[in-house]
This record gives sequence, structure tokens and C-alpha cells, in this order.
Amino acid sequence: MDSDEEGEEYLFKVVIIGDSAVGKSNLLSRYARNEFNLHSKATIGVEFQTQSMEIDGKEVKAQIWDTAGQERFRAVTSAYYRGAVGALIVYDISRRTTFESVERWLEELKTHSDTTVARMLVGNKCDLENIRDISVDEGKSLAEAEGLFFMETSALDSTNVQKAFEIVIKEIYNNVS
Ligand code: GDP
Ligand code: MG
Repeated sequence: MDSDEEGEEYLFKVVIIGDSAVGKSNLLSRYARNEFNLHSKATIGVEFQTQSMEIDGKEVKAQIWDTAGQERFRAVTSAYYRGAVGALIVYDISRRTTFESVERWLEELKTHSDTTVARMLVGNKCDLENIRDISVDEGKSLAEAEGLFFMETSALDSTNVQKAFEIVIKEIYNNVS
């Protein structure tokens, strides 16, 4: 009763997945702290960062999880996925192998989730236009075929980073409200 009088609380878990070095950690640091690191270590020791945004006048918090580099060993654990209601599946537009891995990441996500997950395919490093290996259309087609949102981003110059996270968080909100 009157659950929204004091303002309902929303806390959503979002995971970032994708091959090593596609820019997952930098997407998160750009979004959460507006920071970018050219020589970021694979392990940053932080499990997740919490970001708030307002939707329909309500405070919505997203707990965004970053791997600690385990993806290099294909050993992202089920604990990482547990309870996730949103996911960013990231590839590097300058490295085709990372795009080819997307299907495997989608499979893994599906295996570990028991609920509706808002999913966004993210082609990161779009600042590297001169060495682009995956066209925008290719990214879009895969996203359409798999029923994912799609966006190209650059953690380096900030292009679409906030947008990508916010679209996912809004979709989660729509899924639960
Ligand atoms: P992760 O292993 O997926 O977490 O990738 P990192 O965030 O550690 O980034 C791997 C490397 O790519 C680092 O050297 C980053 O500086 C670089 N990087 C990350 N995002 C971008 C981007 O948008 N553009 C460019 N040019 N480099 C990026
Ligand atoms: Mg990382």
C-alpha cells in the first residue's frame, strides 16, 4: 500500500560482457566517472559501480558489473550473471574476432539468465574509423537478427556511452513496471 509515496526504489543489475580488450572497463569508467584510461589494466579490482538516473520522476539505480578480466580465460562465473536484468554485449569495431564472439557471449548470457534481460549490442571504439573492420550495417543486422538494441560507442571520445547505458536502463524499467 502506498508503496510509491516515499518513492519506490529500483535497483537493477547490468552486466558488461564481450572479449578481452574491447573496452568494457573503459565504457564503465567513462559512464560512471567520466574517465578513460589508455593503458587500463585487465584487472581493476572493482566488481561494480552504481549509477543513478531519473525515470518518470523516480530514482532508478543501476549496479553495473565489470569483469575483472576473467573473460581472457573464458571463465566468467555464474555469480557474475546472477540476477542481471540488463546486459551490454561489447565488440571492438576494429577487430572482427571480437564481433564473431558475440554469438558465444549471447549463448552464455542466455544460459545464465532466468528472466527477461534488456540487451544492447555495442560496437565500441568507433573513433577508430580508419581501421574499421565491421561496418555499421553489419552490427545493425546482427542486432536485428538477435532482437538486441544496437549502438556504436567510443569510450575514448565519449560518443554514445551515456546513451547506450541509459537505453538499457530505461528498457529494464519498462520491463518491470
Ligand atoms: P576490456 O578488457 O574489455 O575491459 O577493455 P579495456 O577497457 O581495458 O580497454 C582495452 C584497451 O582498449 C585499452 O588500451 C583502452 O585504452 C582501449 N580502448 C577502450 N575503449 C576505447 C575506445 O573507445 N577507443 C579506443 N581507440 N580505444 C579504446
Ligand atoms: Mg576490463
